[in-house]
Amino acid sequence: MEFKLTKEQQLIQSAAREFAEKHIEPVLQQIEDEDDVPRELIDRMAELEFFGIQFPEEWGGSDGGYDGYVLVMEQIARVSPGVSMILSVNGLGLGAIYTYGTKEQKEKYMEPGLTGKLLASFAFTEPETGSDPRQITTTASKDGDSYVISGTKRFISSANFHGPIVVFARESESEEITAFIVDKFCEGYSISKPWDKIGLKGNRIVDVYLKDVRIPVENMLGKVGKGFNILLSGIAYGKIGISSTYLGITLRAYEEAVKYAIEKTHRGQSIAKFQAIQIRVGEIAIKLEAARWLTYRLGCLANDVKDPVQFAKEAALTKSFVCENAVDVTRIAVDVHGSYGVMEDYTIQRLYRDAIIGPQIEGVGDMQKMIVAGSVLRGGR
Ligand SMILES: Cc1cc2nc3c(=O)[nH]c(=O)nc-3n(C[C@H](O)[C@H](O)[C@H](O)COP(=O)(O)OP(=O)(O)OC[C@H]3O[C@@H](n4cnc5c(N)ncnc54)[C@H](O)[C@@H]3O)c2cc1C
Repeated sequence: MEFKLTKEQQLIQSAAREFAEKHIEPVLQQIEDEDDVPRELIDRMAELEFFGIQFPEEWGGSDGGYDGYVLVMEQIARVSPGVSMILSVNGLGLGAIYTYGTKEQKEKYMEPGLTGKLLASFAFTEPETGSDPRQITTTASKDGDSYVISGTKRFISSANFHGPIVVFARESESEEITAFIVDKFCEGYSISKPWDKIGLKGNRIVDVYLKDVRIPVENMLGKVGKGFNILLSGIAYGKIGISSTYLGITLRAYEEAVKYAIEKTHRGQSIAKFQAIQIRVGEIAIKLEAARWLTYRLGCLANDVKDPVQFAKEAALTKSFVCENAVDVTRIAVDVHGSYGVMEDYTIQRLYRDAIIGPQIEGVGDMQKMIVAGSVLRGGR
């Protein structure tokens, strides 16, 4: 057991921190105002190979491992969690293609996705369901050598960019949930205007309308009826991205609280002299450390998954803790700021808005706890 970063990991971490401060911070307000990430920023992240860290070189990645990925994501999210979510969602869609795709599918989608030319999406949620695959109403009807897909997907990240979208639909012959790869903006694909959410600005979400979208049968991802497995395994890896994003939010909230506590004065002395402030700062520091090591551990575990069910439990456990913890930490950090904490001039109010979204995405908090409990009660660890 070793709780320290290697020299190489320290370099990855500092490169990501420097990049975020130099290139994201100056356009942060623009990202917040437009709920969009400038294309130049995406291209710069691609040049630094941030899109492919966790994937092997063989498919266009940079072999930095999931432990390298969490370090980069944490530092990007420390400045803009919306930007890190773009990396996370791309990794989620491509991760499913990498794990379940045929050689041809990987050849078509991995390299453009890992170099940021195309950005992947992953579409499960529908107006009637986000947690229950039995309620999926999108259909994939077999028609000769094609499937014809129709339905509406709700709150889909990055669906406004060109690239592959992994769509979960009910296959007509088996009536089972099955995954398909659709090229965004093909005939029959359209999107709504962006949802106006309270935070995570830059991670644009839209509804996706699929109207008689015709794809070749070769675009099925995995096998008929295996959609639920792909969903569970895909979002288990996706939770590494969410957890590291919410670790970045926690880190920034900690920094903002400490800075404010030291700089703000009361009758000529720093408010850090008050025990009430000290207790809050102590609590935030403890919560940051717990979130950090759970997330780093998840990155290390993801590098060598022997038992996917056990890994899904570890991912659920980490995502649940880190996201709910981020809500607590940002809330306490608002208290450290007093009324200034709810003013738009202060970063902490934005972090609080970003934090509150975490427990609601990629599987709500309750579902994570049920995954953990299911494993524990079956006699797992
Ligand atoms: C910023 C953002 C980005 C998103 N990106 C994507 C994306 O890229 N792709 C995508 O597919 N979706 C995406 N979503 C959607 C998101 O993943 C879903 O909204 C989420 O999984 C919850 O689904 P729901 O809103 O339908 O809630 P529901 O499933 O309706 O759940 C509502 C509440 O009911 C309870 N509940 C529901 N079912 C159960 C159950 N079986 N057992 C116990 N409790 C239950 C839960 O406590 C939950 O809090 C995104 C959402 C946001 C906000």
